[in-house]
Amino acid sequence: PKSKLPEVGTTIFTVMSALAAEKKAVNLGQGFPDFACDPALPATVAAAMAADFNQYPPMTGMPQLREQIARKILDVYGHDYDANSEITVTAGATQGILTILLASVHAGDEVIVIEPAYDSYVPSIRLAGGIPVFVSMELDENGYSIPWDKVKAAISSKTRLIMLNSPHNPTGSVLNADDIAALTDIVRDTNVLIASDEVYEHMVYDGQRHESLSRYPELAARSYIISSFGKTYHVTGWKIGYVAAPAALMAEFRKVHQYNVFSVNTPMQVGLAQYMGNPAPYLELSAFYQKKRDLFRAGLANSSLRLLPCAGTYFQSVDYSAVSDMPELDFARWLTTEIGVAAIPVSAFYQQSKESGIVRFCFAKQDATLQNALQRLQKL
Ligand code: PMP
Ligand code: GLN
Repeated sequence: PKSKLPEVGTTIFTVMSALAAEKKAVNLGQGFPDFACDPALPATVAAAMAADFNQYPPMTGMPQLREQIARKILDVYGHDYDANSEITVTAGATQGILTILLASVHAGDEVIVIEPAYDSYVPSIRLAGGIPVFVSMELDENGYSIPWDKVKAAISSKTRLIMLNSPHNPTGSVLNADDIAALTDIVRDTNVLIASDEVYEHMVYDGQRHESLSRYPELAARSYIISSFGKTYHVTGWKIGYVAAPAALMAEFRKVHQYNVFSVNTPMQVGLAQYMGNPAPYLELSAFYQKKRDLFRAGLANSSLRLLPCAGTYFQSVDYSAVSDMPELDFARWLTTEIGVAAIPVSAFYQQSKESGIVRFCFAKQDATLQNALQRLQKL
């Protein structure tokens, strides 16, 4: 039978985590914390289950959770989404992204993808019948940035949507005010929608602020904003997040959402709504991860790995060209097997294999884990 996704194999995250386990390497590959979440969080979920919040929630999500999400976005970014008509709880960001694409992209529509790109985007676009149109980020001594002139040139009468991601996995770059101005100019006078993957919204460093598209009314009017509790609360296995968008866009989103999951598990929604009442955990997250970033960078400062800038996310990329001229996947495997530290080849975030001599490490780890990895990496 003809495959719907002929070019797709097993994701790189699964492949590298399996190799790390087999070789007993320190796993800095797949992005997830190796430390426990705040015990107060699962306690709220246990209480919700005990109180019999165990039947279907409303299709759109528990009202108290949607209200907390709306309040947070208003407090942090100043945009007032209506909790009833403009926010939907999703089974992680991944389901949110697929649902946005299924709801908005018609067969043959073009979707602009900035590479390197998170690996679910392109298969999701293809499942929706869309045609990805690629624009590569550019890398110079200031790090990766989006060449907006090339984004503008990529827009055609068939462009339906632009996929954006800031803070950006895998490069750790973040959109700044100039990026927002350029984007605003490009989409003005078009019907192009934007899907803004902001799952790392609370991990932005060195005093910069996260440029959520929800801060900008002109952009928010055409944007789906995506986030994930997995990242913010150290519970990647919970697979729960949300999408926010203007009511007309959200109505289309929900038509699809109701038939691909219908709704997301009730006790976690009840627990998260209660936990979100305290803003400290998300407001303090950037400082928490900045310390880990700095510890990890300091440990590599004298190694032969060249550190690329990291302005956000829990990922640090390095240029290993002084160590090896192996292709990235081979180098990541070698690093796992021979040095005992797993990493992710950045080439996995490109459709046409692009070799830049760069791999990504995840620093969402206990300090002891990072020290252990650093001891091994310092041999390079
Ligand atoms: N987008 C990006 C950029 C990510 O890094 C991730 C995390 N793997 C996701 C989406 C998916 O998030 P979730 O686990 O909530 O589906
Ligand atoms: N987002 C995580 C990463 O980039 C992995 C998610 C997954 O395993 N699919 O590493």
